[in-house]
Amino acid sequence: MKAIGVDLGGTHVMAAVVEDDGSIHSKHEIDVEDRSFPSVLKLLETAIGGALSDAASNVVGIGIGSPGNIDATTGAVRNSPNFGPSWNGAPLGEKLHERFGIPVFVGNDARCATLGEYVYGVGRGTRDFVLITLGTGIGGGIVADGNLVLGSAMGAGEVGHHQIRPKDGFVCSCGKIGCFEAQASGTGLIRHAMALAPSFPRSTLLAGAPQDLGSKRIRKAAQAGEMHGLAAWRNYCDDLALGVANIVAFLNPEIIALGGGVSKAEEFLLDAVRPRVDELVTMAPRGSSRIAIAQFENDAGALGAATMAMNGGLATKPEPVAVR
Ligand SMILES: [Zn+2]
Repeated sequence: MKAIGVDLGGTHVMAAVVEDDGSIHSKHEIDVEDRSFPSVLKLLETAIGGALSDAASNVVGIGIGSPGNIDATTGAVRNSPNFGPSWNGAPLGEKLHERFGIPVFVGNDARCATLGEYVYGVGRGTRDFVLITLGTGIGGGIVADGNLVLGSAMGAGEVGHHQIRPKDGFVCSCGKIGCFEAQASGTGLIRHAMALAPSFPRSTLLAGAPQDLGSKRIRKAAQAGEMHGLAAWRNYCDDLALGVANIVAFLNPEIIALGGGVSKAEEFLLDAVRPRVDELVTMAPRGSSRIAIAQFENDAGALGAATMAMNGGLATKPEPVAVR
């Protein structure tokens, strides 16, 4: 058995053939320049068409991990703030089903990535698992008692939008102040560095245009012991620990996996965050929620999307959600 797994991101789409043992091949990637629904739909058709012809036969369906809130019964995108208003109510599943004639499943991209990490990655074998991806924003997902938690309207697991600094935090893309995402995403790391800029007027991080300052440069500066980078890194890790400790208080999962660009710091990140989380966790036994680095760098979303197609839905217990 195999399925096509698709990761639909803000900058590129990737469709791949995924076997039921989790192996992934025949990746077809295309950059996204125009984020309007009709334009992205064309890119998806091209990428999926390529993967389908590589797969040849035995494809049970197509799984799409899409940003935004998804109506799983129709495969429509209810809204996707990152992709804009042309996606409000966009019939993504229906259009792709019309085009390819096989079952199409659509789920939120972060939930799909969580399923991928849970079934094939660092969450494998656990019952309670949380994935947090530290990228441009914070995506996430919760597995409780072996089931991906979806919520009453597919809105569960949006851990990026719980507020950790509602009074003195940065403004979030959702409009609130001090969301976990505003403070502890890759973008949050840049904001911590910018907030500290007056204290480090000669910092090398401030050479060049402000828009060229990325989270990777700040992370590298911190790892090299550069003062401005280190100060930003400490403030960042404090905020990341606040959010992670809240997740421990609510869920006490066996593993909280950190993915996304910032997680490439690996031990440097874990060594800073674990002791702070230990200080902040008051009720769950110390160390009972292990913080780890996610296994898949970029493939978790497509793996999870294909798993959704093979399982007949995002829920571990199958439910009738295909657009047939
Ligand atoms: Zn928010």
